[in-house]
Amino acid sequence: MDLDDLEKYIRDFSYFLPLPVCTLNPTGIIIDINQSAKELTGYDEITLIGQDIEFLFEDKESAGRLLREVLKKGVVRNKSANLLTSGKGKMAVSVSASARKDVQNNIIGYFIAIFNISELKKLQEGLETKVKVRTGELEGSQKALLNILEDVEEARKGAEEEKNKTLAIINNFTDGLFVFDEKNKVLLINPQAGDFLKIKKEDIIGRFFSELSKVAALKPLVEILGERIDKISKKEFKIKEDLVLEITIAPVMREKEKLGSLLILHDITREKLIEELKTEFVSLAAHQLRTPLSAIKWTVKMILEGDLGKINKEQREFLEGTYKSNERMINLVNSLLNVSRIEEGKYISNLVLTDIEELVKKVIISYKKESQKRGTRIEFRKPKKKLPKIMLDVEKMRIAIDNLMKNALKYTIKDGKIIVSLSGRKKEIEISVKDNGIGIPKSQQKMIFIKFFRGTNVSKIDTTGSGLGLYITKNIINAHKGKIRFESKENIGTTFYITLPIVRGKFTEFLKGF
Ligand code: ADP
Repeated sequence: MDLDDLEKYIRDFSYFLPLPVCTLNPTGIIIDINQSAKELTGYDEITLIGQDIEFLFEDKESAGRLLREVLKKGVVRNKSANLLTSGKGKMAVSVSASARKDVQNNIIGYFIAIFNISELKKLQEGLETKVKVRTGELEGSQKALLNILEDVEEARKGAEEEKNKTLAIINNFTDGLFVFDEKNKVLLINPQAGDFLKIKKEDIIGRFFSELSKVAALKPLVEILGERIDKISKKEFKIKEDLVLEITIAPVMREKEKLGSLLILHDITREKLIEELKTEFVSLAAHQLRTPLSAIKWTVKMILEGDLGKINKEQREFLEGTYKSNERMINLVNSLLNVSRIEEGKYISNLVLTDIEELVKKVIISYKKESQKRGTRIEFRKPKKKLPKIMLDVEKMRIAIDNLMKNALKYTIKDGKIIVSLSGRKKEIEISVKDNGIGIPKSQQKMIFIKFFRGTNVSKIDTTGSGLGLYITKNIINAHKGKIRFESKENIGTTFYITLPIVRGKFTEFLKGF
């Protein structure tokens, strides 16, 4: 009875046990299964009992291995395997096994416990994928970060290379170069600038432009440039007899923002020398031409006046033509001489206090005959009040006003009217010459004071000009510290304005400029 009770107890217990268990004989044949095992495998007792345990597993050999291991160790726990179920397909399970022994410790079979771990596996796989994804993400971000770092490094290298290239260009530049930052502090100077000015860059870099005059070698340069280096400007600077520099200031802008300034020192010694030689040549040639031209002038004049005997009408006509051409040559030679004197810097001399009204009147009168011949009226508008006398080189100022009168007459074809006005203001005198002639084309107005420049519209009317008159006039006015400007409209007319400063008292101060 006790035994029966015990067997029932065990059956009930095994039936109730939620763990699927199979009982095997020593050869691995299933001899019993509990309720949970039936539910898990989907097979009933009739199908399973009598089957080899390998029937239940995908990997048939693993079942044999498991039992052999149990034989060795007594117990084997948690081996992963795939259970072949009826109807539910393959199922991931964990298998534990232990040997069944009798009282004498003889092995009489095995217990096999099977845990369903498919849910756990799924969870694990899910977790693994998540971990993988996260790891992937992390790896991704790490990679991205590395890429960024690589890019930054590349950009840095690129920038460094660019900087080195720019520095190499600056250092090997044949012009001297100062680079200032936006606050006019010296950022760098190149070796050529150091050579030109005999300065060491260590003494200069980091100083403000305004402090540079404290460096003895730079004082004259700063004086020439004045106080500002934020506007484009060009100046000449003679350092010594055999070194003349052209100094250019160029602000460095990005859009409207000022980044700094450049000071460029360009060696123009050679150009200057050539220019001087050219001027000398022109001066020499003009001087040489003057004597024979004067000789021709006086000889022709004497013949025309009958001093050398009577001449007939035809001879007179030819001689008159020769005389006119010779006069033009003399004018040209005189202009060339004036230009070369201007360029040699010895043009203005002999300043005297002058009544400018008298001078203007004299010039107008000298054109009386010519204007009548051309049918052009000349009107003189006097100043309202008597003007003060001013310091002038009379001869040169006469040439300047004469050039304007000559042009007004030459470049007015018919119904010409020239108005010469003279007026005085507090500090200056203004002379204007207005004509109603052919005017200066807008596109050429910028070039009008350039040596040898002639407008395209004048060459048809007048072939005798040299393009030197206005260049000489401008130089004369500049040397008197005056200004010249003009307004012009093609086919309507032109007005030239000259303003000259009225200087009272300090003549010596004034003369310093000449
Ligand atoms: P030019 O000997 O040719 O007159 P200038 O130096 O006196 O030389 O003048 C230079 C050019 O300026 C002239 O060729 C002409 O094109 C222009 N010009 C000067 N004055 C006038 C004016 N009053 N009317 C029209 N054009 C003028």
